Amino acid sequence: MIFDTHCHGYLEGLNHRQPQVRENMCAANVRRSVQVGVDWELSRMALDLARDWGDQTWCSIGLHPTSCQDLPANSAQGWADRLESLVHHNRDKAVAIGEIGLDYYHLTPGKETVQKRTQREFFCAQAALSLRLDLPVIIHSRDAADETSNLLKECGIKRAVIHCFSEDLTFAQDLLAWSDEVYFSFSGILTYKNAVAVQDAARNLPLERILVETDAPFLVPQAARDSITINEPAFVRHVMDYLKTLRSEPGDFVERQVWENSNRFFRLV
Ligand SMILES: [Zn+2]
Repeated sequence: MIFDTHCHGYLEGLNHRQPQVRENMCAANVRRSVQVGVDWELSRMALDLARDWGDQTWCSIGLHPTSCQDLPANSAQGWADRLESLVHHNRDKAVAIGEIGLDYYHLTPGKETVQKRTQREFFCAQAALSLRLDLPVIIHSRDAADETSNLLKECGIKRAVIHCFSEDLTFAQDLLAWSDEVYFSFSGILTYKNAVAVQDAARNLPLERILVETDAPFLVPQAARDSITINEPAFVRHVMDYLKTLRSEPGDFVERQVWENSNRFFRLV
């Protein structure tokens, strides 16, 4: 059984074909998913989807760095308060805060300094929220590895997943030393030929800290890439199969361990 720990099933490409998406998940034995929010509206859509899909689907609520970088930095606390009330009324479905983080790849030329500062403000406000609510955070980090790891420590965040892991083993080891509740989630990137450093990390990290995800509708795994442009939760099977080829443990054991990790991380029974 596989848990797609990070997808956006409410986005275009997936939202109009929900029955098919769910059927494909069943066929691939992808039993559970977390629908991840990226801004206020889409967090609400993630929540609606988690309700529609019933008892094997949950959601996360949060503001992605590129969703907040052009907002006033001093509005971060107000936004965190709004998110808090949304989570508060939906504790059965909202299992994480995210995705939050730092994205220094999508900065607007000329606005880099202010956007970086704003991203940090929103990161800290939402990190504090996760501690208040006792929820884990889903971290997006792009071109900002050192800053992300410093900020996690500054904010005192121990329960976190580095989603769509695309850094190297050194970055992961630094975080492993910081927390025994930090996880690393591998996406279709793991299956790409040039992802040597990512594969090296997946090979060497403790198995009990590994999760898998699709980030659907983005990042179609290599095995489906020739014919398909829209990723979907069922394709997390390809990520899992690839992970098994990298690990020394038996395949069944890898699949079971990653399933258990996912449920432990989100505290699901
Ligand atoms: Zn995502």
